[in-house]
Amino acid sequence: MDFAVTPEQQQILDSVDRFARLRLPPGEVRRRDAAHLPPYDLLPEMGAMGLFALPVPVRQGGLGADWVTVALTQERLGWHAYMAASIFNRVVGFGIMSLLTYANSEQIAALLPRLLAGEALVALALTEPEAGSDAAAVRTRAERTPGGWRIHGRKIWISDANGASHLLTVARAEEGITLFLVPRQAAGIAMTELPKVGNNAMPSWDIGFDAVEVDGSALLGAPGTGFRHLMSTLHFSRASMAATVTGCAQAAVDAALAHAKARVQFSKPIGSFQAIRHRIADMQMRVDLSRHAVRHLAWLISTGQPCRREASQAKVVATETLQFVSDAGMQILASAGYSAESDMQRYWRDGRLYSFGEGSNEIQRDLIARELGL
Ligand SMILES: Cc1cc2nc3c(=O)[nH]c(=O)nc-3n(C[C@H](O)[C@H](O)[C@H](O)COP(=O)(O)OP(=O)(O)OC[C@H]3O[C@@H](n4cnc5c(N)ncnc54)[C@H](O)[C@@H]3O)c2cc1C
Repeated sequence: MDFAVTPEQQQILDSVDRFARLRLPPGEVRRRDAAHLPPYDLLPEMGAMGLFALPVPVRQGGLGADWVTVALTQERLGWHAYMAASIFNRVVGFGIMSLLTYANSEQIAALLPRLLAGEALVALALTEPEAGSDAAAVRTRAERTPGGWRIHGRKIWISDANGASHLLTVARAEEGITLFLVPRQAAGIAMTELPKVGNNAMPSWDIGFDAVEVDGSALLGAPGTGFRHLMSTLHFSRASMAATVTGCAQAAVDAALAHAKARVQFSKPIGSFQAIRHRIADMQMRVDLSRHAVRHLAWLISTGQPCRREASQAKVVATETLQFVSDAGMQILASAGYSAESDMQRYWRDGRLYSFGEGSNEIQRDLIARELGL
């Protein structure tokens, strides 16, 4: 495993820095968070930069970068603006990697170019009122019709459904759990926004499916294979979450460090007090550990090795690191952090989600124990 950033990777990171400094400087991130304004408008620019093409093979119009490069890019986006990293993960994780892993060639031809160009967005519609961690308990039904399928049911907490072109919908057909790529504008879909604590630029939706008709081309994989297919891409989404959260955690440490140098009390910078110095040392150690877990996972993915345990581990380590460092950061910034204008309170609020979102850390620990033979 080589930890050096290659010149090609550095070029990509430099272009991410240029993009973020121009489009999502700290003041703009704060403005969008306060206004609950997701960065959907930036998708075409991110597409034109080639960001979404990174993990796609060259023969399919992509750049054929390895997952280490993708993870570095996600971490850098997460450092600048979690909202951009989150939207990147939705396009790549739920959109592109799902298509490449289990869609047929017509579905890939129809949607991949639009995803690469930032003209399409896929939201995952899995969770239901009675099916959270127990994802296999979904009740949304899919019935065959002469022309395709009819879907009835309800989904909750679906992120970015309003900006999505398609909902990757998990429903129960006669054969078992089945995946559909449902156009978001399909008749019978009704959406209500759910108010929440953080991640303001990633709106969450309660979605009713009232006899939503889709044709046969919406079916992803064979009926009854949905759960297996979902599981087959989890390492990508866990790697993505771990990488972006690590970037955000580093941003929290950087903000705490800057404050510890600048804030003077008792005629000294607060960073000269051992209580603060040790806290910041602990914060950076945790972020470095998280980064190593992510790089290791990305390397396993890039080299085609099994990585179920490492994917869960990276997700747990990174999400709990962000909670640790943003909580410590709130203590170091004190009143300056509690101000609604501080970035630290946003990291703290946003980070609270990730240890239970996308597969709770309790479930991840169960998976890790299972991989260890328990
Ligand atoms: C802001 C936000 C965005 C989201 N975005 C999406 C999205 O885009 N798409 C989507 O489909 N879903 C989304 N979700 C749903 C999210 O994935 C679920 O919240 C998550 O799966 C947990 O489900 P739950 O909230 O129902 O908790 P529950 O499943 O009710 O769990 C409650 C607690 O019990 C624990 N628990 C449950 N079962 C076990 C067990 N077997 N062993 C040990 N502990 C257990 C959990 O870890 C948790 O601590 C989002 C949620 C939020 C809040």
